Parts: sequence; structure tokens; C-alpha cells
Amino acid sequence: MKVAVFYGKEDIRIDHHYPVPEIGPDGVLVRVKACGVCGTDLHIYSGAQGATDCNPPVILGHELAGIVEKVGENVTRVRPGQHVSVNPNISCEACTACRRGDPHFCDHMMATGVNYDGGFAEYCAVLEKQVFVVPDDLPFEEAAMGEPVSCCLHGIDLCNIKCGDSVMIVGGGSIGLIMLQLARMSGAARTVVLETNEARFSLIRSLGADLVLNPLKDDIHAALAENGLDDIRVTIECVGRKETVEYAMEYAGKAGTVMIFGLTDPDCAVAYYPFGAFKKELTVKTSFVNPNTQGRAVDIISSGRLNLKDIISERLPLDRIGETFVPGPRAGKVMIVC
Ligand SMILES: [Zn+2]
Ligand SMILES: [Zn+2]
Repeated sequence: MKVAVFYGKEDIRIDHHYPVPEIGPDGVLVRVKACGVCGTDLHIYSGAQGATDCNPPVILGHELAGIVEKVGENVTRVRPGQHVSVNPNISCEACTACRRGDPHFCDHMMATGVNYDGGFAEYCAVLEKQVFVVPDDLPFEEAAMGEPVSCCLHGIDLCNIKCGDSVMIVGGGSIGLIMLQLARMSGAARTVVLETNEARFSLIRSLGADLVLNPLKDDIHAALAENGLDDIRVTIECVGRKETVEYAMEYAGKAGTVMIFGLTDPDCAVAYYPFGAFKKELTVKTSFVNPNTQGRAVDIISSGRLNLKDIISERLPLDRIGETFVPGPRAGKVMIVC
């Protein structure tokens, strides 16, 4: 089969003669139809680690969907021909964290597309417990968004948005635009998005933002006050840079919650002003991967209530995957499609 193998820092190569993976009794062989390129893939490519440690050579790609090709003898819930969205994260179900209901803190967490061969390939072997059946008419590229949407859902759950709250999203990239829509579904009455790329403003507005501001140009406090948005209850940081984390803390209103969601570089440090936080009773939270949220993510995607097609900006065949690993800002989500 054709695959893209990651051999180490900045080294991904296409191989046309890779063996199709074997599956065990609990395994499911998926014929990959779409696999998203994630910020985590870019981090790993540049030499950093993802949520779990990556030891190349390995096939990356953890946001995948496809058609069940073959199942192991113990598999009962899925059968060949069904369309599935894959949860890449595999917890042991036996360690202390797993047994108290926090599978994402598993001591032995492994992930398809990070530790095990993933979805930048024609076929990918996973376990039955990793697959979620999706409707046959759901586009594969939307089904492949199951993992990023499930991560966003965990973040949204931790924000405790109440009906009627005003919510700010920092960053109008693909994660920011999923968060924007989930915040509105969770009851946000008004939403504001901070984004520096003005070419994205009309898309951001079309997905429901009431106000879009450029933090490099606009006086944010003044603009919020002018628009009656000076009581931001929740800010959700979706970029992972020092400045954007600082914006999220600065613009959160009284008794506000700050969700630091974007993945920063490991050595990123931000300025924290305890006095300002004290006067606002700020709650600062973070969110790590997708504990038990992929089923709901797949349900929301299948319901058609989430606009993902406008967020996916590029569709590339596997042979051209190298193009997606060039550094620089992207216009949206890149999908590798087969
Ligand atoms: Zn991802
Ligand atoms: Zn565990």
C-alpha cells in the first residue's frame, strides 16, 4: 500500500510498497478515505512531541475516517463496509487514572498516528473500541474531524458556558471556528472572535460571530464596550502563542473563565498579573485531548449542525502531503483524501 512514513525531524517520505497492516482478534482494518493534518502533526514534524511520545519511523495521521475493510474474530459492533470515524487515543483501562474515569490521563496512553501507524496511508489498523460508525452519506472529510471536534467538545465542557453568556474566541483558525460553533450551540448569546488575518473575517462572520476584531489594529477594550460586550464570561484561546494566551486573560470579564486550548511550544511562558486576575476572580483552565467525547462529536457532526465543509480549506492526495508540512500560517484545515 501507499503510505507517508515519518522518519524523524523534517523527514517524511512516500513509500509505495508498504505492507498492509495485520489485525488481531480485536482489530479493525480501515481503508482510509480522509485524514486531517493537525497542528500536532506539524509539532511532531518539527521535532517536538505530541500528547504522547512519538518514536519514528511511524506513519503519522490521527484524524481519520474510512471504510471498514476487515474485522478480527472478536469484533461484534462493526462489520466490513461500514463507514467509521476513528478515535486515535487508546487508554489501558486498568491504571489508576483510567479506573477513576479519566482515560486521557492514562499512564500507558498510546495513539494511532503518533505511537502506532496512522492514517497517512491507504489502510490503517485500529481496535474495535476506537471506531465510531457514521452514516454512509456523511462526507469522509467531515467524519475525519471526529477527533478534533471531540477535543474541542472536552474544552467546551470545561468552560461551563451558560445560556446567554458572551464568549470570546481568540483565533479564527479551524479550531477557533469549531469552538465558535460549539459555543453558540452551548447557549452563547453573543460571540466575538479575535483574528489577525482579515481575509478570514467574512468566513468567521458567516459561522455566527457577532463581532470580529483584529488585535493588532483595533482597540479591543473600546470595541467591546461600544458593542455592549464588556462582560465576556468565557474566553477560549485557540492559537497557542504567548500573545494570544495573554489576550484571553486580558479580555475575560468579571468572574470570567479563560480556556487555554491552543497547543503552545513547551517553553512558552506568559505574563500573568495576579492583581488583575484577583479583581476579576478569573478561572484559568486547560483542556487535554478527548476523554469520552468522540461519540458525542460524531453525533454532532452526523446531525449536520456543525459547518465543517467551510473550515476545510485544502484537499490533497497522499503524494502531495509534503506540501502541508511547510511552515507558515494556513488558510484552514488540510485534508489528505484518498
Ligand atoms: Zn489532532
Ligand atoms: Zn490507563
